[in-house]
Amino acid sequence: MAEQPGTLLYYLKRSTEFLEKKEIPNPRVDAEWILSDLLNLPRIKLYSQFEMPLGQKEIDLYRERIVERSKRKPVAYITGKKGFHKFEYFVSEDVLIPRPETEELVDYLWKRREELTLTEPSPLQIWDLCSGSGCIGLSLTQLLPTSVVTLTDLSEKAIDVSRRNAEKYNLTDRTSFYVSDLDLALPKELLFDLVVSNPPYIPESEKPEIMPDVLDYEPHLALFVSDFNEFHKQLLDVTSKRLKPGGKLMLETHPLYIRDLEKMATSLGLTDTKIVLDSSNKERFLFAKKPIG
Ligand code: GLN
Repeated sequence: MAEQPGTLLYYLKRSTEFLEKKEIPNPRVDAEWILSDLLNLPRIKLYSQFEMPLGQKEIDLYRERIVERSKRKPVAYITGKKGFHKFEYFVSEDVLIPRPETEELVDYLWKRREELTLTEPSPLQIWDLCSGSGCIGLSLTQLLPTSVVTLTDLSEKAIDVSRRNAEKYNLTDRTSFYVSDLDLALPKELLFDLVVSNPPYIPESEKPEIMPDVLDYEPHLALFVSDFNEFHKQLLDVTSKRLKPGGKLMLETHPLYIRDLEKMATSLGLTDTKIVLDSSNKERFLFAKKPIG
């Protein structure tokens, strides 16, 4: 039986067809996410509400948002949020949409939390460098209850988003924010047990290969780097100076350049380097330590 006009299922189907015609890759899933956000219903709950009539206001808003998606605006920017690890963070076009690979970085550290935990009673000091939405640092500080986190980003608007995320999870008394180029705005004496970073790592030369959803909407400052080596040399240099003896670094990066980065880290005196694969078997993460002695 055909769905009744005016019902939730009716609009879901029309929206899916429209997105399909516009060659959006997962039209049904996207139409569902957008509707579930609009109605404030978990996505799975839509299935028990198919016969529910939609009000005119909902219909208009739904149409507006589906049109945005048809123009390739990412779903996370339409709904203003993105699930990440066990959490859900606010996002706007001022920050990168957290990626599944980055969840893997958090998970890797979470699984090795005993190696990170300190014997002394002082809190574990974490630095999330190029923090964007704050997804890495704010997740880690929630997963490691004795930790405090410093978030730095070059973009003031990104810092505003991460502050909102810290407020959402009541983390403001365990979080410090700095609009900063690398560590320039940080207090001189501040040192860390753990530095995490997902800095911009796509060379400008790869721009033509990037899909329009990303290229037209996500902040280029968070994605692209003009001189990969120069930027990463500075980043690793400040990191090695800001780590306490025995402190650790976990960096997300470009698989093509990770071996060079590993060499750079070693030449700056970091040890125990380890290249960690992501779930697509790409060499995505670099782990390193600052020696104790
Ligand atoms: N740390 C944030 C993330 O992982 C932002 C990264 C960035 O802006 N390059 O999503």
